[in-house]
Amino acid sequence: MKAVDISGIKSLLNQPKNIVIVPHKNPDGDAIGSCLGLYHLLLQLNHHVTIIAPNDYPHFLKWMPANEKILIYETDSKKCEAIIQKAELIFTLDFNALFRTGEMETPLKEAKAIKIMIDHHQQPDDYAKYVYSDVMMSSTAEMVYHFISKLSLNNLITPHIGTCLYAGIMTDTGSFRFPNTNSTTHRIIADLIDKGANNSAIHHNIYDTNSYQRTQLLGRALNNLHVLPELKTAYIVLSQNDLNEFNFKKGDTEGFVNYGLSIEGIVFAAIFIESMQDEIIKISFRSKGSFDVNEFSRAHFGGGGHINAAGGKSELSLSQTVEKFISILPQHKSTLTK
Ligand code: 5GP
Ligand code: MN
Repeated sequence: MKAVDISGIKSLLNQPKNIVIVPHKNPDGDAIGSCLGLYHLLLQLNHHVTIIAPNDYPHFLKWMPANEKILIYETDSKKCEAIIQKAELIFTLDFNALFRTGEMETPLKEAKAIKIMIDHHQQPDDYAKYVYSDVMMSSTAEMVYHFISKLSLNNLITPHIGTCLYAGIMTDTGSFRFPNTNSTTHRIIADLIDKGANNSAIHHNIYDTNSYQRTQLLGRALNNLHVLPELKTAYIVLSQNDLNEFNFKKGDTEGFVNYGLSIEGIVFAAIFIESMQDEIIKISFRSKGSFDVNEFSRAHFGGGGHINAAGGKSELSLSQTVEKFISILPQHKSTLTK
C-alpha cells in the first residue's frame, strides 16, 4: 500500500464513528461499487455510515446491495449537509480533487471530519489526511479490496462486499480487458467469486439491461462516428437533438466512445455530447498505448483522468468544440502515429 498510514486508520476505526463515503459526480460502476463495498465493511465494524453521491446515476448501477441507502446530494442537499457536518470520518472514493464532487465541494471543504482518500487517478490533490493513491491500480474497488486486506479484515468480506467490488473492478477494466488488468486483479476477482459474488449475474445486471431506445441511440452514435486515419483518431458527436430523439437517460452513452477505439489502427477516440442542461459539451477520451489522454484533456479540455481514459468539457458550441479538437490534433501527430 502506497503512502498511507494504515495503523492510523486502524485506530480511527476502533471505535464506532459517524462516517460518510463520497464518490465523484456522475458516479460510474467503480465509484458506486467501491462506496457500497466499503459501506458493507464499515457497517460490520459498528459504524454509522452514509454514502452521499453528488448526483444521480444510471439505472444499470442501481441493483447493487444497499443501493437504496445512497443519498443524492443534488436532491437532498440540506439533509446531506447536516450529515457531512456531523461526520467524524469522510472517505472520498474514486476521485483525486474535491471539485470532482461538483456542488458538494464546499460542504466537503468545510467539514471538520478527517478525510481518507482511496483513488487511482493521476495527480491527486492533498485535501485528505490519509491518502491511499495508486495510479497503477485497475480500479478503486480493487484498492478497497487491498485496503480491507491491509486492515486484516478479509474474513469480513461478505457476498454483498464481493458483489460490489466485483462490479467496480469489472466496469473500470472493461470486463478485464484494459491494460490496467493484471494477474493480481484476476486473483482478487477469483477470491470475490469464492466469497459469494455471482459473476454471471453481475455482468448481466450491468451490460444486458439496455432499453430499446438506448440501443437505437447507439445506432445514431455509430452513424455519427468519424475517422481520421492519418491521425489514428476516431470521434463521435451526439447533439442534444440526437439525445432527445431517443429519450436519453443518464448513462445511456456509457461505453459508446470505445467503439471508436475498436476500429483497427485507431489509437485515440473521443465522444462529444451536447448537454443543454449543463450548458457544456461533455467529452470522453480513450486511447491505446502511450498517447496520454489525461495530459491531452488537462491541456485542452479542462479535465483529466488516466493515461488511457479521461473526461473533459467545453463551453464552446458542439460544432466549435469539434473544430477545436480537429485543429489541435496535428500538434500530437507524432505521438499518435508513432
Ligand atoms: P469518463 O470519460 O468516463 O467521464 O471519464 C474517464 C475517466 O476520467 C474516469 O476515471 C473519470 O473518473 C476520469 N475523469 C473524468 N473527468 C475528469 C476530470 O475532469 N478530472 C479528472 N481528474 N478525472 C476525470
Ligand atoms: Mn475508477
